Amino acid sequence: GPVVVWFRDDLRVSDHPALRAAVDSGAPVLPVYVVDDSGHGARPLGAASRWWLHHSLAALSASLEKRGARLVLREGDAEEEIRAVLRRSGASRLLMDRRYAAAEREQDQRVQRLAEQAGAEVESFTGSLLHEPGAVLNGDGERFGVFSPFFRALQRQGDPREPLPAPQRIAGWEGSVHSEALDDLRLLPTSPDWSGGMAETWEPGEKGAHRRLDGFVRDHLRHYAAHRDEPAADVSSRLSAHLKFGELSPYQVWHRVAAADATEEVRTKFLTELAWREFDYDLLERGHALEQENVHRQFDRFPWADVDQDVLRAWQRGRTGIPLVDAGMRQLWHTGWMHNRVRMVVASFLVKNLRYDWRLGEQWFWDTLVDADPANNPAQWQWVAGSGADAAPFFRVFNPVTQGHKFDPAGEYIAEWVPELRDLDAKGRQEPWTVPDDLAAAAEGTGLPAYPSPVVDLKASRQAALDAYAEMRG
Ligand code: FAD
Repeated sequence: GPVVVWFRDDLRVSDHPALRAAVDSGAPVLPVYVVDDSGHGARPLGAASRWWLHHSLAALSASLEKRGARLVLREGDAEEEIRAVLRRSGASRLLMDRRYAAAEREQDQRVQRLAEQAGAEVESFTGSLLHEPGAVLNGDGERFGVFSPFFRALQRQGDPREPLPAPQRIAGWEGSVHSEALDDLRLLPTSPDWSGGMAETWEPGEKGAHRRLDGFVRDHLRHYAAHRDEPAADVSSRLSAHLKFGELSPYQVWHRVAAADATEEVRTKFLTELAWREFDYDLLERGHALEQENVHRQFDRFPWADVDQDVLRAWQRGRTGIPLVDAGMRQLWHTGWMHNRVRMVVASFLVKNLRYDWRLGEQWFWDTLVDADPANNPAQWQWVAGSGADAAPFFRVFNPVTQGHKFDPAGEYIAEWVPELRDLDAKGRQEPWTVPDDLAAAAEGTGLPAYPSPVVDLKASRQAALDAYAEMRG
Protein backbone atom coordinates (compact mmCIF):
# COMPACT_ATOMS: atom_id res chain seq x y z
CA GLY A 1 0.00 0.00 0.00
CA PRO A 2 0.98 3.69 -0.27
CA VAL A 3 2.81 5.87 2.21
CA VAL A 4 0.29 8.39 3.54
CA VAL A 5 1.70 11.85 4.32
CA TRP A 6 -0.66 13.72 6.60
CA PHE A 7 -0.15 17.48 6.09
CA ARG A 8 -1.07 19.78 8.99
CA ASP A 9 0.97 22.87 9.91
CA ASP A 10 3.43 22.26 7.08
CA LEU A 11 1.74 23.23 3.81
CA ARG A 12 4.89 23.11 1.70
CA VAL A 13 6.95 20.66 -0.33
CA SER A 14 10.46 21.95 0.43
CA ASP A 15 12.09 21.22 3.79
CA HIS A 16 9.27 18.83 4.61
CA PRO A 17 10.77 15.92 6.56
CA ALA A 18 7.71 13.66 6.35
CA LEU A 19 7.28 14.16 2.60
CA ARG A 20 11.00 13.70 2.06
CA ALA A 21 10.97 10.38 3.96
CA ALA A 22 7.96 9.24 1.95
CA VAL A 23 9.62 10.02 -1.37
CA ASP A 24 12.89 8.43 -0.29
CA SER A 25 11.08 5.21 0.64
CA GLY A 26 10.35 4.59 -3.03
CA ALA A 27 6.73 3.63 -2.28
CA PRO A 28 3.81 5.51 -3.87
CA VAL A 29 2.81 8.60 -1.92
CA LEU A 30 -0.70 9.63 -0.85
CA PRO A 31 -0.81 13.18 0.60
CA VAL A 32 -3.81 14.08 2.78
CA TYR A 33 -5.15 17.18 4.53
CA VAL A 34 -8.11 17.10 6.92
CA VAL A 35 -10.15 20.19 7.81
CA ASP A 36 -11.15 19.28 11.36
CA ASP A 37 -13.58 21.58 13.16
CA SER A 38 -14.52 18.92 15.71
CA GLY A 39 -12.37 20.47 18.43
CA HIS A 40 -10.93 17.00 19.13
CA GLY A 41 -7.53 17.97 17.74
CA ALA A 42 -6.43 21.33 16.38
CA ARG A 43 -8.21 24.42 17.67
CA PRO A 44 -10.90 25.20 15.07
CA LEU A 45 -9.65 27.99 12.82
CA GLY A 46 -11.00 31.52 12.87
CA ALA A 47 -12.50 33.17 9.80
CA ALA A 48 -9.37 34.95 8.55
CA SER A 49 -7.28 31.79 8.94
CA ARG A 50 -9.87 29.81 6.99
CA TRP A 51 -9.53 32.28 4.13
CA TRP A 52 -5.76 31.79 4.22
CA LEU A 53 -6.06 28.02 4.46
CA HIS A 54 -8.21 27.86 1.33
CA HIS A 55 -5.56 29.60 -0.74
CA SER A 56 -2.71 27.73 0.88
CA LEU A 57 -4.33 24.38 0.12
CA ALA A 58 -4.91 25.46 -3.47
CA ALA A 59 -1.21 26.28 -3.77
CA LEU A 60 -0.08 23.05 -2.10
CA SER A 61 -2.40 20.97 -4.20
CA ALA A 62 -1.07 22.52 -7.43
CA SER A 63 2.52 22.06 -6.33
CA LEU A 64 2.01 18.38 -5.46
CA GLU A 65 0.09 17.79 -8.68
CA LYS A 66 2.93 19.25 -10.73
CA ARG A 67 5.30 16.78 -9.06
CA GLY A 68 3.06 13.79 -9.63
CA ALA A 69 0.84 13.40 -6.54
CA ARG A 70 -2.76 14.35 -5.87
CA LEU A 71 -3.69 15.94 -2.54
CA VAL A 72 -6.69 14.27 -0.91
CA LEU A 73 -8.88 16.71 1.04
CA ARG A 74 -11.13 15.47 3.80
CA GLU A 75 -13.44 17.12 6.27
CA GLY A 76 -14.39 15.91 9.74
CA ASP A 77 -12.83 14.48 12.87
CA ALA A 78 -9.25 13.82 11.75
CA GLU A 79 -9.10 10.53 13.62
CA GLU A 80 -12.05 9.16 11.65
CA GLU A 81 -10.87 10.60 8.35
CA ILE A 82 -7.31 9.28 8.60
CA ARG A 83 -8.63 5.91 9.69
CA ALA A 84 -10.82 5.78 6.57
CA VAL A 85 -7.99 6.86 4.27
CA LEU A 86 -5.61 4.27 5.71
CA ARG A 87 -8.17 1.53 5.42
CA ARG A 88 -9.37 2.32 1.88
CA SER A 89 -5.87 2.74 0.51
CA GLY A 90 -4.36 -0.20 2.38
CA ALA A 91 -1.56 2.12 3.49
CA SER A 92 1.68 0.61 4.73
CA ARG A 93 2.96 3.74 6.47
CA LEU A 94 1.72 7.01 7.90
CA LEU A 95 4.17 9.92 8.11
CA MET A 96 3.70 13.39 9.57
CA ASP A 97 5.47 16.39 11.04
CA ARG A 98 4.66 16.88 14.71
CA ARG A 99 2.07 19.14 16.32
CA TYR A 100 2.35 20.41 19.87
CA ALA A 101 -0.92 21.45 21.52
CA ALA A 102 -2.11 18.88 24.07
CA ALA A 103 -5.28 18.02 22.13
CA GLU A 104 -3.25 17.66 18.93
CA ARG A 105 -0.73 15.35 20.55
CA GLU A 106 -3.49 13.24 22.03
CA GLN A 107 -5.24 13.00 18.68
CA ASP A 108 -1.96 12.02 17.05
CA GLN A 109 -1.48 9.27 19.62
CA ARG A 110 -4.96 7.92 18.96
CA VAL A 111 -4.27 7.95 15.23
CA GLN A 112 -0.93 6.22 15.77
CA ARG A 113 -2.60 3.43 17.73
CA LEU A 114 -5.31 2.80 15.19
CA ALA A 115 -2.82 2.93 12.32
CA GLU A 116 -0.58 0.41 14.01
CA GLN A 117 -3.56 -1.83 14.73
CA ALA A 118 -4.29 -1.70 10.99
CA GLY A 119 -0.73 -2.81 10.31
CA ALA A 120 0.66 0.54 9.17
CA GLU A 121 3.96 1.82 10.47
CA VAL A 122 3.86 5.37 11.90
CA GLU A 123 6.65 7.90 12.07
CA SER A 124 6.67 11.60 12.97
CA PHE A 125 9.28 14.29 12.40
CA THR A 126 10.32 17.71 13.63
CA GLY A 127 9.32 20.10 10.87
CA SER A 128 7.84 23.24 12.38
CA LEU A 129 10.20 24.08 15.22
CA LEU A 130 13.98 24.48 15.49
CA HIS A 131 13.98 22.35 18.61
CA GLU A 132 11.56 19.83 20.07
CA PRO A 133 9.89 21.24 23.18
CA GLY A 134 11.77 19.82 26.13
CA ALA A 135 15.06 19.65 24.21
CA VAL A 136 16.22 23.04 25.51
CA LEU A 137 16.68 22.72 29.26
CA ASN A 138 18.38 24.58 32.08
CA GLY A 139 21.27 23.29 34.20
CA ASP A 140 18.85 21.33 36.39
CA GLY A 141 17.33 19.62 33.38
CA GLU A 142 14.13 21.66 33.62
CA ARG A 143 12.19 23.77 31.15
CA PHE A 144 12.90 27.50 31.16
CA GLY A 145 10.31 29.83 32.64
CA VAL A 146 12.11 32.91 31.36
CA PHE A 147 12.93 33.78 27.77
CA SER A 148 16.50 35.18 27.82
CA PRO A 149 18.25 32.11 29.25
CA PHE A 150 16.07 29.95 26.98
CA PHE A 151 17.37 31.88 23.98
CA ARG A 152 20.97 31.61 25.14
CA ALA A 153 20.58 27.86 25.59
CA LEU A 154 19.03 27.63 22.13
CA GLN A 155 21.99 29.52 20.70
CA ARG A 156 24.43 27.20 22.47
CA GLN A 157 22.90 24.31 20.57
CA GLY A 158 24.52 25.75 17.46
CA ASP A 159 23.16 26.06 13.95
CA PRO A 160 19.97 24.16 13.23
CA ARG A 161 20.11 21.54 10.47
CA GLU A 162 20.14 22.63 6.83
CA PRO A 163 16.77 22.78 5.04
CA LEU A 164 15.88 19.80 2.83
CA PRO A 165 15.32 20.40 -0.89
CA ALA A 166 11.89 19.88 -2.44
CA PRO A 167 11.43 16.58 -4.26
CA GLN A 168 11.32 17.18 -8.03
CA ARG A 169 9.14 14.12 -8.72
CA ILE A 170 6.76 12.36 -6.39
CA ALA A 171 5.47 8.91 -7.32
CA GLY A 172 1.82 9.54 -6.57
CA TRP A 173 -0.35 6.63 -5.50
CA GLU A 174 -2.48 5.47 -8.46
CA GLY A 175 -5.49 4.24 -6.49
CA SER A 176 -8.35 6.40 -5.40
CA VAL A 177 -9.95 7.47 -2.15
CA HIS A 178 -12.63 10.09 -1.86
CA SER A 179 -11.46 13.69 -1.82
CA GLU A 180 -13.62 16.74 -1.20
CA ALA A 181 -13.39 19.56 -3.71
CA LEU A 182 -11.63 22.53 -2.15
CA ASP A 183 -14.59 24.82 -2.81
CA ASP A 184 -16.93 22.44 -1.01
CA LEU A 185 -14.96 22.90 2.21
CA ARG A 186 -16.53 26.38 2.49
CA LEU A 187 -13.39 27.99 3.85
CA LEU A 188 -14.00 31.30 2.07
CA PRO A 189 -16.38 33.99 3.30
CA THR A 190 -19.50 34.35 1.17
CA SER A 191 -21.92 37.09 2.06
CA PRO A 192 -20.54 39.51 2.77
CA ASP A 193 -17.15 38.73 1.27
CA TRP A 194 -14.85 40.73 3.55
CA SER A 195 -11.63 39.24 2.20
CA GLY A 196 -10.73 41.95 -0.34
CA GLY A 197 -8.21 43.71 1.92
CA MET A 198 -6.54 40.41 2.70
CA ALA A 199 -6.34 39.40 -0.94
CA GLU A 200 -4.64 42.72 -1.71
CA THR A 201 -2.12 42.22 1.07
CA TRP A 202 -1.13 38.56 0.99
CA GLU A 203 -0.06 35.76 -1.27
CA PRO A 204 -0.73 32.57 0.71
CA GLY A 205 1.25 29.47 -0.27
CA GLU A 206 4.85 28.37 -0.50
CA LYS A 207 5.76 30.61 -3.46
CA GLY A 208 4.35 33.70 -1.78
CA ALA A 209 6.17 32.79 1.43
CA HIS A 210 9.54 32.65 -0.33
CA ARG A 211 8.82 35.84 -2.25
CA ARG A 212 8.13 37.52 1.10
CA LEU A 213 11.33 36.13 2.63
CA ASP A 214 13.41 37.25 -0.38
CA GLY A 215 11.94 40.75 -0.28
CA PHE A 216 12.45 41.04 3.45
CA VAL A 217 16.11 40.01 3.32
CA ARG A 218 16.75 42.26 0.32
CA ASP A 219 14.91 45.43 1.43
CA HIS A 220 14.13 45.41 5.14
CA LEU A 221 16.41 43.19 7.19
CA ARG A 222 19.16 45.78 7.56
CA HIS A 223 16.65 48.24 9.05
CA TYR A 224 15.03 45.65 11.29
CA ALA A 225 16.84 46.30 14.57
CA ALA A 226 16.52 50.08 14.38
CA HIS A 227 12.98 50.40 13.05
CA ARG A 228 11.01 47.29 13.89
CA ASP A 229 8.95 49.14 16.49
CA GLU A 230 7.70 51.77 14.05
CA PRO A 231 4.46 50.70 12.44
CA ALA A 232 4.78 53.21 9.58
CA ALA A 233 8.28 51.96 8.68
CA ASP A 234 6.86 48.46 8.31
CA VAL A 235 10.24 46.71 8.15
CA SER A 236 9.29 43.42 9.82
CA SER A 237 9.22 40.25 7.74
CA ARG A 238 5.43 39.65 7.68
CA LEU A 239 6.24 35.96 7.63
CA SER A 240 4.01 35.10 10.59
CA ALA A 241 1.09 33.59 8.67
CA HIS A 242 3.45 31.76 6.32
CA LEU A 243 5.17 30.28 9.37
CA LYS A 244 1.90 29.50 11.10
CA PHE A 245 0.69 27.45 8.12
CA GLY A 246 4.16 26.05 7.57
CA GLU A 247 4.49 27.36 4.03
CA LEU A 248 8.08 27.82 4.93
CA SER A 249 10.00 26.33 7.81
CA PRO A 250 11.91 28.12 10.56
CA TYR A 251 15.00 26.26 9.29
CA GLN A 252 14.68 28.00 5.93
CA VAL A 253 14.15 31.37 7.57
CA TRP A 254 16.96 30.89 10.08
CA HIS A 255 19.59 29.90 7.51
CA ARG A 256 18.56 32.59 5.08
CA VAL A 257 18.84 35.31 7.71
CA ALA A 258 22.02 33.88 9.27
CA ALA A 259 23.70 33.99 5.86
CA ALA A 260 22.40 37.44 4.93
CA ASP A 261 24.62 40.45 4.51
CA ALA A 262 23.62 42.21 7.75
CA THR A 263 25.19 43.18 11.04
CA GLU A 264 25.37 40.73 13.90
CA GLU A 265 23.02 42.99 15.87
CA VAL A 266 20.35 42.86 13.18
CA ARG A 267 20.59 39.11 12.72
CA THR A 268 20.42 38.43 16.43
CA LYS A 269 17.45 40.75 16.90
CA PHE A 270 15.51 38.94 14.20
CA LEU A 271 16.49 35.46 15.36
CA THR A 272 15.37 36.47 18.87
CA GLU A 273 11.84 36.97 17.56
CA LEU A 274 11.93 33.60 15.86
CA ALA A 275 13.04 32.17 19.21
CA TRP A 276 10.00 33.71 20.95
CA ARG A 277 7.93 31.50 18.70
CA GLU A 278 9.94 28.52 19.93
CA PHE A 279 9.47 29.63 23.53
CA ASP A 280 5.69 29.97 23.10
CA TYR A 281 5.50 26.47 21.59
CA ASP A 282 7.61 25.10 24.42
CA LEU A 283 5.03 26.54 26.80
CA LEU A 284 2.10 25.20 24.78
CA GLU A 285 3.60 21.73 24.69
CA ARG A 286 3.72 21.57 28.49
CA GLY A 287 0.01 20.95 28.28
CA HIS A 288 -1.37 24.38 29.17
CA ALA A 289 -4.72 25.16 27.62
CA LEU A 290 -3.06 28.49 26.92
CA GLU A 291 -6.10 30.21 25.45
CA GLN A 292 -8.15 29.42 28.56
CA GLU A 293 -5.90 29.13 31.60
CA ASN A 294 -3.80 31.82 33.19
CA VAL A 295 -0.25 30.50 33.38
CA HIS A 296 0.00 32.38 36.69
CA ARG A 297 -3.05 31.15 38.52
CA GLN A 298 -3.31 34.17 40.78
CA PHE A 299 -4.88 35.92 37.77
CA ASP A 300 -7.87 33.59 38.21
CA ARG A 301 -8.84 36.06 40.93
CA PHE A 302 -8.36 39.20 38.84
CA PRO A 303 -11.41 41.49 39.14
CA TRP A 304 -12.19 42.05 35.45
CA ALA A 305 -14.73 44.76 34.65
CA ASP A 306 -18.20 43.88 33.34
CA VAL A 307 -18.25 44.06 29.57
CA ASP A 308 -20.17 46.84 27.86
CA GLN A 309 -20.89 45.30 24.45
CA ASP A 310 -20.85 48.69 22.73
CA VAL A 311 -17.40 49.44 24.11
CA LEU A 312 -16.09 45.99 23.18
CA ARG A 313 -17.46 46.52 19.69
CA ALA A 314 -15.79 49.93 19.51
CA TRP A 315 -12.46 48.26 20.31
CA GLN A 316 -13.03 45.50 17.77
CA ARG A 317 -13.90 47.90 14.95
CA GLY A 318 -11.42 50.67 15.72
CA ARG A 319 -13.75 53.32 17.13
CA THR A 320 -12.42 53.78 20.67
CA GLY A 321 -11.40 57.40 20.09
CA ILE A 322 -7.76 56.55 20.85
CA PRO A 323 -6.03 56.97 17.47
CA LEU A 324 -3.22 54.41 17.69
CA VAL A 325 -5.60 51.77 19.06
CA ASP A 326 -8.11 52.46 16.30
CA ALA A 327 -5.46 52.44 13.58
CA GLY A 328 -4.26 49.01 14.73
CA MET A 329 -7.72 47.51 15.02
CA ARG A 330 -8.63 48.78 11.56
CA GLN A 331 -5.42 47.42 10.07
CA LEU A 332 -6.33 44.07 11.61
CA TRP A 333 -9.89 44.16 10.31
CA HIS A 334 -8.82 45.13 6.82
CA THR A 335 -5.68 43.03 6.30
CA GLY A 336 -5.80 40.25 8.91
CA TRP A 337 -2.50 41.43 10.38
CA MET A 338 -1.28 44.08 12.80
CA HIS A 339 2.15 45.44 13.54
CA ASN A 340 3.69 43.92 16.68
CA ARG A 341 4.14 47.16 18.62
CA VAL A 342 0.52 48.08 17.95
CA ARG A 343 -0.66 44.60 18.99
CA MET A 344 0.92 45.29 22.38
CA VAL A 345 -0.79 48.68 22.60
CA VAL A 346 -4.31 47.52 21.64
CA ALA A 347 -3.99 44.52 23.95
CA SER A 348 -2.84 46.63 26.87
CA PHE A 349 -5.71 49.04 26.22
CA LEU A 350 -8.27 46.22 26.35
CA VAL A 351 -6.80 44.45 29.35
CA LYS A 352 -5.77 47.45 31.44
CA ASN A 353 -7.69 50.57 30.42
CA LEU A 354 -10.94 48.72 29.75
CA ARG A 355 -10.05 45.97 32.24
CA TYR A 356 -11.68 43.33 30.02
CA ASP A 357 -10.57 39.73 30.39
CA TRP A 358 -7.66 39.08 27.99
CA ARG A 359 -9.52 36.04 26.63
CA LEU A 360 -11.98 38.37 24.87
CA GLY A 361 -9.11 39.96 23.00
CA GLU A 362 -7.43 36.65 22.30
CA GLN A 363 -10.65 35.34 20.81
CA TRP A 364 -11.10 38.39 18.56
CA PHE A 365 -7.51 38.10 17.34
CA TRP A 366 -8.02 34.37 16.81
CA ASP A 367 -10.93 35.10 14.51
CA THR A 368 -9.43 38.04 12.61
CA LEU A 369 -5.67 37.40 12.32
CA VAL A 370 -4.36 35.49 9.32
CA ASP A 371 -1.42 34.48 11.54
CA ALA A 372 -3.63 33.42 14.49
CA ASP A 373 -1.37 30.91 16.16
CA PRO A 374 -2.34 28.44 18.89
CA ALA A 375 0.89 29.12 20.79
CA ASN A 376 1.83 32.72 19.98
CA ASN A 377 -1.60 34.29 20.25
CA PRO A 378 -2.59 33.18 23.74
CA ALA A 379 1.02 33.34 25.00
CA GLN A 380 1.41 36.92 23.80
CA TRP A 381 -1.97 37.98 25.17
CA GLN A 382 -0.92 36.55 28.50
CA TRP A 383 2.40 38.31 28.16
CA VAL A 384 0.56 41.63 27.89
CA ALA A 385 -1.92 40.75 30.63
CA GLY A 386 0.87 39.82 33.03
CA SER A 387 -0.51 36.32 33.56
CA GLY A 388 1.91 34.57 31.19
CA ALA A 389 5.35 33.02 31.47
CA ASP A 390 8.01 35.73 31.58
CA ALA A 391 5.25 38.30 31.12
CA ALA A 392 5.38 42.06 31.24
CA PRO A 393 4.43 43.02 34.80
CA PHE A 394 0.77 44.03 35.00
CA PHE A 395 1.53 47.36 36.61
CA ARG A 396 3.46 48.53 33.54
CA VAL A 397 0.49 50.10 31.75
CA PHE A 398 1.14 51.45 28.26
CA ASN A 399 -0.18 54.91 27.61
CA PRO A 400 -1.42 54.54 24.02
CA VAL A 401 -1.00 58.26 23.31
CA THR A 402 2.60 58.31 24.52
CA GLN A 403 3.22 55.15 22.51
CA GLY A 404 1.85 56.93 19.45
CA HIS A 405 4.11 59.95 19.93
CA LYS A 406 7.08 57.68 20.43
CA PHE A 407 6.67 55.12 17.65
CA ASP A 408 4.56 57.00 15.10
CA PRO A 409 5.75 60.56 15.72
CA ALA A 410 4.37 62.07 12.52
CA GLY A 411 1.15 60.09 12.84
CA GLU A 412 1.70 58.47 9.42
CA TYR A 413 0.40 55.07 10.50
CA ILE A 414 -2.62 56.71 12.12
CA ALA A 415 -3.31 58.73 8.98
CA GLU A 416 -3.14 55.59 6.85
CA TRP A 417 -5.75 53.68 8.84
CA VAL A 418 -7.88 56.46 10.33
CA PRO A 419 -8.67 58.75 7.41
CA GLU A 420 -10.82 61.00 9.63
CA LEU A 421 -7.56 62.23 11.18
CA ARG A 422 -5.53 62.58 8.00
CA ASP A 423 -5.92 66.33 7.69
CA LEU A 424 -4.71 67.03 11.22
CA ASP A 425 -1.13 67.83 12.16
CA ALA A 426 1.08 65.37 14.02
CA LYS A 427 -0.14 66.35 17.47
CA GLY A 428 -3.77 66.42 16.38
CA ARG A 429 -3.50 62.93 14.91
CA GLN A 430 -2.38 61.61 18.31
CA GLU A 431 -4.67 63.74 20.47
CA PRO A 432 -7.62 64.82 18.34
CA TRP A 433 -9.58 65.92 21.44
CA THR A 434 -7.16 68.82 21.82
CA VAL A 435 -8.20 70.27 18.44
CA PRO A 436 -12.00 69.89 18.29
CA ASP A 437 -12.47 72.57 15.63
CA ASP A 438 -9.88 71.06 13.27
CA LEU A 439 -11.38 67.63 13.87
CA ALA A 440 -14.85 68.82 12.90
CA ALA A 441 -13.47 70.53 9.79
CA ALA A 442 -11.47 67.43 8.82
CA ALA A 443 -14.54 65.19 9.15
CA GLU A 444 -16.57 67.48 6.91
CA GLY A 445 -14.07 67.08 4.08
CA THR A 446 -14.07 63.27 4.13
CA GLY A 447 -17.77 62.61 4.49
CA LEU A 448 -16.88 60.00 7.13
CA PRO A 449 -18.70 59.73 10.45
CA ALA A 450 -17.21 62.03 13.08
CA TYR A 451 -14.25 60.57 14.92
CA PRO A 452 -15.45 59.48 18.39
CA SER A 453 -14.29 60.86 21.71
CA PRO A 454 -12.35 58.39 23.87
CA VAL A 455 -14.49 55.57 25.31
CA VAL A 456 -12.48 55.73 28.52
CA ASP A 457 -10.41 58.25 30.45
CA LEU A 458 -6.81 57.05 30.16
CA LYS A 459 -5.64 58.41 33.47
CA ALA A 460 -8.56 57.26 35.62
CA SER A 461 -8.69 53.83 33.96
CA ARG A 462 -4.98 53.35 34.51
CA GLN A 463 -5.47 53.97 38.21
CA ALA A 464 -8.47 51.63 38.30
CA ALA A 465 -6.32 48.92 36.69
CA LEU A 466 -3.60 49.34 39.28
CA ASP A 467 -6.21 49.20 42.06
CA ALA A 468 -7.65 46.01 40.61
CA TYR A 469 -4.18 44.52 40.45
CA ALA A 470 -3.60 45.42 44.11
CA GLU A 471 -6.93 43.82 44.98
CA MET A 472 -5.92 40.59 43.24
CA ARG A 473 -2.63 40.55 45.10
CA GLY A 474 -4.63 40.88 48.28
P1 FAD B 1 8.87 39.64 12.61
O1 FAD B 1 9.20 40.75 13.48
O2 FAD B 1 9.38 39.71 11.20
O3 FAD B 1 9.25 38.31 13.29
C1 FAD B 1 9.58 37.09 12.59
C2 FAD B 1 8.77 35.94 13.13
O4 FAD B 1 9.07 35.70 14.50
C3 FAD B 1 7.28 36.18 13.10
O5 FAD B 1 6.75 35.89 11.83
C4 FAD B 1 6.77 35.25 14.18
O6 FAD B 1 6.67 33.92 13.72
C5 FAD B 1 7.89 35.32 15.20
N1 FAD B 1 7.59 36.35 16.22
C6 FAD B 1 7.80 37.68 16.13
N2 FAD B 1 7.45 38.30 17.27
C7 FAD B 1 6.99 37.36 18.09
C8 FAD B 1 6.49 37.37 19.41
N3 FAD B 1 6.40 38.49 20.14
N4 FAD B 1 6.08 36.20 19.95
C9 FAD B 1 6.17 35.04 19.26
N5 FAD B 1 6.67 34.96 18.01
C10 FAD B 1 7.06 36.11 17.43
N6 FAD B 1 2.32 36.13 16.40
C11 FAD B 1 1.84 35.11 15.66
O7 FAD B 1 2.56 34.53 14.87
N7 FAD B 1 0.54 34.71 15.79
C12 FAD B 1 -0.31 35.32 16.66
O8 FAD B 1 -1.47 34.91 16.77
C13 FAD B 1 0.18 36.40 17.44
N8 FAD B 1 -0.64 37.06 18.31
C14 FAD B 1 -0.14 38.09 19.06
C15 FAD B 1 -0.96 38.74 19.97
C16 FAD B 1 -0.49 39.80 20.75
C17 FAD B 1 -1.39 40.48 21.75
C18 FAD B 1 0.84 40.21 20.59
C19 FAD B 1 1.39 41.36 21.42
C20 FAD B 1 1.67 39.58 19.69
C21 FAD B 1 1.21 38.51 18.92
N9 FAD B 1 2.05 37.83 18.00
C22 FAD B 1 1.54 36.79 17.28
C23 FAD B 1 3.50 38.13 17.93
C24 FAD B 1 3.91 39.18 16.88
O9 FAD B 1 3.14 40.34 17.02
C25 FAD B 1 3.80 38.66 15.45
O10 FAD B 1 4.45 37.42 15.32
C26 FAD B 1 4.45 39.64 14.47
O11 FAD B 1 3.88 40.91 14.56
C27 FAD B 1 4.30 39.10 13.05
O12 FAD B 1 4.86 39.97 12.13
P2 FAD B 1 6.19 39.61 11.37
O13 FAD B 1 6.09 38.26 10.76
O14 FAD B 1 6.47 40.75 10.45
O15 FAD B 1 7.24 39.57 12.56
